[in-house]
Amino acid sequence: MKIINKEIAKAFLPKRPADSNKGTFGKALCVCGSENMMGAAVLAVKAALSAGVGYAVAAVPEKEKDVIFTSVPEAVVLPVGDKEEIASFVLKNKIDLVLAGPGLGKEKASAYIPFLLNDLKLPFVLDGDGLNALTRADAQAFKTPCVFTPHPLEAARLLCLKEPPCEKERENAAKEISRRYNCVCVLKGKETVIVYNNEVFINTTGSDSLAKAGTGDVLAGIITGFWAQEGKQNGFSFGSALRAAVCGVYIHGLAGEDAALDISSYSVLASDLNKYIGRAIKKTL
Ligand code: AMP
Ligand code: MG
Repeated sequence: MKIINKEIAKAFLPKRPADSNKGTFGKALCVCGSENMMGAAVLAVKAALSAGVGYAVAAVPEKEKDVIFTSVPEAVVLPVGDKEEIASFVLKNKIDLVLAGPGLGKEKASAYIPFLLNDLKLPFVLDGDGLNALTRADAQAFKTPCVFTPHPLEAARLLCLKEPPCEKERENAAKEISRRYNCVCVLKGKETVIVYNNEVFINTTGSDSLAKAGTGDVLAGIITGFWAQEGKQNGFSFGSALRAAVCGVYIHGLAGEDAALDISSYSVLASDLNKYIGRAIKKTL
């Protein structure tokens, strides 16, 4: 077990070569948001961009697309409708990885998750309603590299437990999720545990400033942004997924700490974190 420190996070941060263009840093398809939950999509897509992804596509309901146009002008919008349209967009635009789940809503999640995870055959990050949809489908060990980001309640659903794992059980629960689904498991909490293949990392950055709605959506976006860059340059593997998850969790926590120093942990909003992501990266480099 390793405690994530600055040296580890620095070593795992993706490189940014000078001789680069947006293709160097990966293209992410973010299937997030639904009617009444577009905030999660905005938070996740913005965070992926602030973590350095080259190109972010927000796949959102047609009638909500203006939310993205106005809140994240840097993102490309793909109105989510027909699955074949998504598949052909992915091929045509050479999408590298998928983030699925933040704000997706139960109905949309169960309609799209099996297709996104099995048919696109792309690496993926799965969060929130994406994870909950999965527990209703068959549990399976995935062959494509993937990252799951459950909080303790979502972890309980993934493991079919009645109660969320307590503090002492968290490492074992993360190991079991990682083993059962063959994923990098990021089991969130005060000290987030990250596991793949018996490698265990514990994060100690972060504070109660993060104990507020929306911060998990930011984390999912940061991990996606880091993995897009690392994977594009060094290959999308479980190894690159683990590195992105470890430095993503560290930077997310540091951003929460820095935001609290400025405006107190009472008042930090998930949307405030965005401007602290860059500051946290700068401190870690
Ligand atoms: P979610 O529950 O999906 O919104 O995710 C919440 C995020 O905030 C996770 O990354 C947690 O690790 C983090 N978090 C929540 N409460 C705390 C806390 N008291 N200390 C540190 N991190 C926290
Ligand atoms: Mg969440």
